[in-house]
Amino acid sequence: MGDHKKSMKMFASKPAKLAKFKKHNVPLERDHGLGNSVCKRCGKKGMGVITKYDLYICRRCFREIANTIGFKKYS
Ligand SMILES: [Zn+2]
Repeated sequence: MGDHKKSMKMFASKPAKLAKFKKHNVPLERDHGLGNSVCKRCGKKGMGVITKYDLYICRRCFREIANTIGFKKYS
C-alpha cells in the first residue's frame, strides 16, 4: 500500500532528506505474512487472497474465474 515512490521524487535534489525519508517510510521486504500474498489476476494484497492449491487469486477474481479453471459449486 502507500505511495512512497511518489513522495521520493520530492527529495530528488535533497539526498540527506531522501535518506531520512527512506529510513522511516519505505516498507520492509517481508518473507511471510498477509502482505506477501498478492492476487496474480488483479494485484490485490492481503486478506481474501486464496493461497490454497497454489491459486494466489483473490476471492473476487476467484468468483469470476472459478468455473473456467474447473471448480464446481455445490448446493
Ligand atoms: Zn484478484
